Amino acid sequence: MPNNSVLVVGGGFSGMTAALEAAEVGHEVFLVEKTPFLGGRVSQLNKYFPKLCPPSCGLEIQFQRIKKNRLVNVFTLAEVVSVSGSKGDYKVTVKIKPRYTTPGSIDLTEAANELGGSKESEFELGMGTRKALHKDMPFAYPSRFVLEKDECSAAELEELQGVTGIDLDDKEKTVELSVGAIVIATGWKPYDVSNLTNLGAGSLQNCISNMQMERLASPSGASHGLIQRPSDGRSPKRLAFIQCAGSRDENHLNYCSYICCMASLKQASYVREQHPDCQVTIYYIDLRTPGRYQKFRDRILSDEGVHLVKGKVAEAAQGEDGNVILTVEDAVAGTKSREEYDMVVFATGMQPTLSQEQLPIDVHVDEDGFAEENEGKGIFVAGCAKRPLDVMKSAQSGTGAAMKAIEAVRGR
Ligand code: SF4
Repeated sequence: MPNNSVLVVGGGFSGMTAALEAAEVGHEVFLVEKTPFLGGRVSQLNKYFPKLCPPSCGLEIQFQRIKKNRLVNVFTLAEVVSVSGSKGDYKVTVKIKPRYTTPGSIDLTEAANELGGSKESEFELGMGTRKALHKDMPFAYPSRFVLEKDECSAAELEELQGVTGIDLDDKEKTVELSVGAIVIATGWKPYDVSNLTNLGAGSLQNCISNMQMERLASPSGASHGLIQRPSDGRSPKRLAFIQCAGSRDENHLNYCSYICCMASLKQASYVREQHPDCQVTIYYIDLRTPGRYQKFRDRILSDEGVHLVKGKVAEAAQGEDGNVILTVEDAVAGTKSREEYDMVVFATGMQPTLSQEQLPIDVHVDEDGFAEENEGKGIFVAGCAKRPLDVMKSAQSGTGAAMKAIEAVRGR
């Protein structure tokens, strides 16, 4: 009799969807997420397609469904360390790092503010800081702070001792699970701009990535949603987007990342709504706005403050006063020029997490790092671990992976 349970690795949108779809038809699910909170990349966005709602609107529904479903077992700060067996009968070992806070939703903001130094926040992608005791966002799930104990001084640990909600004696745990099928939903990372040497390799002031722009524009971000130059807090008057920054390039990501044309159009609308006097230019090779997104493209491009230039940006360099000088080729006009902007956004692509990290699961990963499912082994892949997708398609892919996992454990 095959084991009916499903392991889902990765607690982003596609992983949560896969977990819920399987649990809601009666299968026990183990959802393993390596960060302290669920939600993945979507939780870092300001707004997402298709309805341009804030991440809270979709994620809070998912979090509530997970909270209410006793068949979904969530492990955060957790990693799969070994898997043995075969379809219908896998043994899985999961290691869970200590969180150093007690279960429940105790608000530890006051205790966090008492702590000294701040560190660059991983969640804010360099656009903000955090304390050693933190929660990524107001609606985070679990709604439970995490303490980075090794970042605290001895005096701080002494102060935290006895604070309600803190558990300094928390220990690493290992759990053993039995499952019949596995869904891999390990998601993606923004491509590392330090690889883009012609565009300043991440060293230029006032050049940010598109994911950093999401944090800048988000009301829960460090600037409370104000889009301003990181170097001096000035409002941008001339802002450029550079498309395919690292994508469709055999030296970087040898594929189209699918979402970044739409992301730049969306972000152009953030800028224009907030700063109507800012002129926005998008440098592109092709503008890919599939299906119904064409209407959105037409709406944004009807704004006379948004300009499209078909051509490659050959180089980005630091100008005076924090400005950025772009050397651009206009493919239509056949000209080459130098243009000055006070802020630049790189439309960086999606790099699958598995291109840089390995899982102890017998799954084939292609040369770009995308995982390929194997029905015979009962191993399925959801979301951007499989290919670049937007949020809606990631959710659909999570549902598809769950259905296949269910068929696998039911022995069809
Ligand atoms: Fe380039 Fe657009 Fe494809 Fe992104 S979606 S890689 S910006 S063509």
